[in-house]
Amino acid sequence: MGSTVKHLAVLGSTGSIGRQALEVVRAFPKRFRILALAAGENTSLLERQISEFKPRFVYYQAAKADAISGEYQFLSLEEMAAHPEVNTVVVATPGRSGLGPTLAAVKAGKVVALANKESLVMAGRIILSEAKKNGAQIMPIDSEHSAIWQCLEGETKPPAQLILTASGGPFHHYSRAQLEAVTAEQALRHPSWRMGKKVTIDSATLMNKGLEVIEAHWLFGMPYDNIRVLIHPQSIIHSIVEFADGSAKAQLGCPDMRLPIQYALTYPERLPNPELPRLNWSLISHLDFEEPDLNSFPCLKLAIEAGKKGGTYPAVLSAADEVAVEFFLSGRIKFTAISSLVKQVLKQHQAVAQPTLEEIMTADAWAREKTLELIGGDNPC
Ligand code: MG
Repeated sequence: MGSTVKHLAVLGSTGSIGRQALEVVRAFPKRFRILALAAGENTSLLERQISEFKPRFVYYQAAKADAISGEYQFLSLEEMAAHPEVNTVVVATPGRSGLGPTLAAVKAGKVVALANKESLVMAGRIILSEAKKNGAQIMPIDSEHSAIWQCLEGETKPPAQLILTASGGPFHHYSRAQLEAVTAEQALRHPSWRMGKKVTIDSATLMNKGLEVIEAHWLFGMPYDNIRVLIHPQSIIHSIVEFADGSAKAQLGCPDMRLPIQYALTYPERLPNPELPRLNWSLISHLDFEEPDLNSFPCLKLAIEAGKKGGTYPAVLSAADEVAVEFFLSGRIKFTAISSLVKQVLKQHQAVAQPTLEEIMTADAWAREKTLELIGGDNPC
């Protein structure tokens, strides 16, 4: 019972989520078989993963990396996501690169353990309708969405409100003036979560929470006005669902991404894993909540506005942010320039309502060019 071996493709296997997904797989060797691994440029780690898990299919950015020898077939991300022998696809590639494989996986009717939020932000309408048409299941790996998913289990009516919690990041309570001076090194020191660089910077600007509001809108079919964000610095409550009668459910746990990853991979089962930390209840003296400061952290507001306007706005928001974060990480723009760039790019965008995939990609490319033009820099990609 429940012992069928799941054949996994892990896209982004050398990144933070990918590595943690493989830790979960290691804890349950009889449950999972790694059929495909895909990485970017970290070929030395990928090589070790290949010799440990012996996948049949492999992808890496060959043009930039040294070739890896071995007995595998080289496939594109889309090909492995749609391969008939793969049944669960973990999409943990960063940014825009998650969209193609996510779409390929839902079109092929796979179980998609989705950590890449940008794909839903860019093309939520298309992904959800393709998933429905082809019987694909999307299992959220984002901790907030996993929390909401867990709270909704067994409920038959849509909830009244979703409350996404946010740690507030390393600059919680900083003024706008203090934020002007923060460095990439400071921004990468997240107080509670172990994550990749892009999402860590997005957490510091609160853009991450804004992208998550859009993600929740699509995953749970919830109107924007019924999604709220609360700062909860302890990162113990991962999100809250309120129902029509005023009753609320929350999901709690240590801030460790392996928990939502494991839930997505073993769903509907919950399995004991001695590697996962447990909450020490007697040490939790208080759980704090406060409203987010939208003046110091305008990215959250920009994202919710872009989500409400819909069309190509969310794709433009996401693309402008990706470029701006890249420039901030390399020390070429200030922390506060991230939000002002995104704001200016959104303002100049002429949106398409109900866009096709091509129109989304065109808007994405336009937004990247426009952001670069505003920075006055060369395209680093
Ligand atoms: Mg999250």
